[in-house]
Amino acid sequence: MEEAVKTLADIGEFGFIEFLRSKFNVNLDPSVVLGIGDDVAVIDVGGSEYLLATCDSQIGDVHFPVGLIPPYDLGCRIVEVNASDVAAMGGTPRWALLGLNLPSQTSITFLEEFYTGVGDSLARMGAWLVGGNCARTKQELVIDLFLMGTVPKNQLVRRKGASAGDVVLVTGTLGKSRAGLEVVLGNMGTAFTENVSVVERAKQSFFHPRARITEGRKLAQSGFVTAMIDISDGLLQDLGHLASENQLDVVVDIARIPVDPLCEEIAKQVGADPLVWALIGGEDYELLFSVPGDRVPELMAWLGHEATMSSSRTISPCSESDVLTTPITPIGFFREGSGRVFLKGLNGEIIPSEAFIGASGWDHFRGGNS
Ligand code: ADP
Ligand code: MG
Repeated sequence: MEEAVKTLADIGEFGFIEFLRSKFNVNLDPSVVLGIGDDVAVIDVGGSEYLLATCDSQIGDVHFPVGLIPPYDLGCRIVEVNASDVAAMGGTPRWALLGLNLPSQTSITFLEEFYTGVGDSLARMGAWLVGGNCARTKQELVIDLFLMGTVPKNQLVRRKGASAGDVVLVTGTLGKSRAGLEVVLGNMGTAFTENVSVVERAKQSFFHPRARITEGRKLAQSGFVTAMIDISDGLLQDLGHLASENQLDVVVDIARIPVDPLCEEIAKQVGADPLVWALIGGEDYELLFSVPGDRVPELMAWLGHEATMSSSRTISPCSESDVLTTPITPIGFFREGSGRVFLKGLNGEIIPSEAFIGASGWDHFRGGNS
């Protein structure tokens, strides 16, 4: 019998990246601080800052529904999803190159609006479009952005660096992008035609995420953060990356997951579980990070979160303009282990995440949630 040809779908996106790591992360040039395997590549080109480099694409009908996303938002989206990886290292986006692969029938109005979005998102983060490339495709719209950024050498935060006992925290709320996608795909029927604001806000969460750049910078400057990643593939999947990179297990308290109110509302309407969307939905572009357990109060104080301010803090108070309004929620902790993700249920039981929920996140080559 003929042996079946092994494909990308067999090994999955992450199996493929492991293959690339073992092939290329050997005998690296000393200028390469981090090669394949983190959110961005980190290069030492001399001076007091590292150069950060990342690329990510948006493909019509894979990442966004063609014809449904406003071109302006698509321009913002390609910038923000890339910037999120720079934010996850504590860095600042600086220079971008954009590869545009599109059919020649594309309208000039579309391109003008798209590039206005690109320009506005780059401007909000102090970054510049400095080049790119155009090529013709038959039908698909394929957009590639290559983004470079910088980070002070002593403030780089990697995926690796956590210890057992570190607390795991997340910025913002989860599940909102998935809720928006459901609305965009029309899975809600007419349930929300009365509530335009909920519909619009949910759609915007999906169409136009905002990378947590200010938050990433402040977290890196605090000096308390031991490891960080951005949530692009879903909370459980990205927790899995952090856990395996650190060779630790992570235990997450279900009751503490900051489920977005839009996610709650829309999931209820379509008969889905909002918690599942928050755990595996993906594309929320929040930051997931760890801090030594005894430093959490100091971190909160540094961020200007007064409710948890410690009386024993030794750092200077934030000025009002420095106070971070983004919610920061402790959701779990690392413990000795081998890279697995566990969930603590509402009755205190601790179970492997696979037992709670079959799917765990996005895999490009397995056509969706793996
Ligand atoms: P993220 O979700 O943070 O964008 P990915 O899962 O896409 O990260 O990538 C993880 C790591 O694998 C990164 O270091 C990235 O540069 C690298 N990588 C992904 N695809 C390829 C590829 N085709 N060739 C080389 N490196 C890759
Ligand atoms: Mg990432």
